[in-house]
Amino acid sequence: MKVGLLLKGVEVRGRGMDVEIRDGRIHRIGADLSTPPGTEVVAGRGGALIPGLHDHHIHLASLAAAMDSLRVGPPEVTSASAFADALRGRHRRLAPGLWLRAAGYHESVAGDLDRFALDRVVADRPVRVQHRSGIRWTLNSVALRTVDADDSTHPGIERDDTGAPTGRIDRADDWLRATIGESGFPDLTEVGAILARHGVTGVTDCTPYRTPDGPEAIATAVRLGQLRQRVVLTGHADLLDTPPGAEVESGPVKIVLDEADLPDFDDLIDTITRSHAAGRPVAIHLVTGAATAFALSAWRTCGSHPGDRIEHGSLISPKMVELLARLDLTVVTQPGFVAERGDEYLAEVDPGDVANLYRCASLRRSGIAVAASTDAPYTDADPWKAIRAATRRRTRSGAELGPTEAIDAPAALAMFTCDPLRPGRAPTTLSVGSPADLCLLHLPLAEALVDPRAENVRATLRRGVVVAGHL
Ligand SMILES: [Zn+2]
Repeated sequence: MKVGLLLKGVEVRGRGMDVEIRDGRIHRIGADLSTPPGTEVVAGRGGALIPGLHDHHIHLASLAAAMDSLRVGPPEVTSASAFADALRGRHRRLAPGLWLRAAGYHESVAGDLDRFALDRVVADRPVRVQHRSGIRWTLNSVALRTVDADDSTHPGIERDDTGAPTGRIDRADDWLRATIGESGFPDLTEVGAILARHGVTGVTDCTPYRTPDGPEAIATAVRLGQLRQRVVLTGHADLLDTPPGAEVESGPVKIVLDEADLPDFDDLIDTITRSHAAGRPVAIHLVTGAATAFALSAWRTCGSHPGDRIEHGSLISPKMVELLARLDLTVVTQPGFVAERGDEYLAEVDPGDVANLYRCASLRRSGIAVAASTDAPYTDADPWKAIRAATRRRTRSGAELGPTEAIDAPAALAMFTCDPLRPGRAPTTLSVGSPADLCLLHLPLAEALVDPRAENVRATLRRGVVVAGHL
């Protein structure tokens, strides 16, 4: 058993170096280091050694579920006939009686779904289709009967004038899971493995868990080694007095502000104030201008706390940029939306708002801390694709979306390697004594960033142990 690891000839901050790792930490960095006895020596061949990437906003359980679901949205599925083919194809292969679960739906595929639209495709097994926003599930009639939607009082169940469920059910993931009787939390092993292949050594799960089960399941997955990443959890303010297990860290309190269903202003102030009093910053989900304005006026009333952040910041007007800077708020953005959904934004968003979509460069110029994330499964979990999107600002069809918001690739990478507890502020640097959460590339960094892609990752180390790739 080797006691240490010596990476010879890796590129560190632009220079050829040797790096010795011991006890999960960086032990020495220098040119031509000697090889202590019992040390495994690996030739770096000039590849860059960089801090492992941290995805500052992700949903681990939803990502695991999505990997298990049929994809029924762009770019894989883009027409009503392809949608029907995909569902029927899965229906034929699934054992009778099992639920057919599909995800990633968007209206551009086959319009606004309801129970009858799904019944016309598959009528003789329970089907549920998740909208790619993650907010809505649409169920067919068998599925509605299975969950007893007629008699349920869940407020997310949409009903027609006669009181009959339309099939559309919003913000009801926990209820659906419980009612369907899906046992337990999804296994996170595959999610952890995929993230590791991307060079990701840490994640912040931004799911607004209201009960301790989710956080406990994630902590267990870390304890069992199913998930090898460092994990920061957010969670709902209901869990303020229920700290997660020792295997994970507490991040900000997650608050979802939905323009269609804004809370009472004083209740929002109360939630923010209680979180701050408990020493926790808040992370507020904001995707519309009105919701952002609402949150900003709350912050103006009760003050901001170090680490308070805006999740997404999908639409930020120039005036809001000023206010964000004054309140010293952080923006956790997802450049992947520009690439993956940009064509729809250009078609749907008011032309006057296009310049406000997923700002990045202008926020940074105003001195606002910006960190990056994938929001997977809602964009691709590969952060290198997000880095590419941040530098190119191009949609799938090649159209430009806010080209002046582009940043250079080193800056985009830095938004993924900054400290998860101070996102966008403190860059992580390789230094003696720091944890060996590392990403070793096949190439020098400048070359890798010409064409940012996960294939450039040679190996990922977490606390000095290889969790993906080969040395
Ligand atoms: Zn999210």
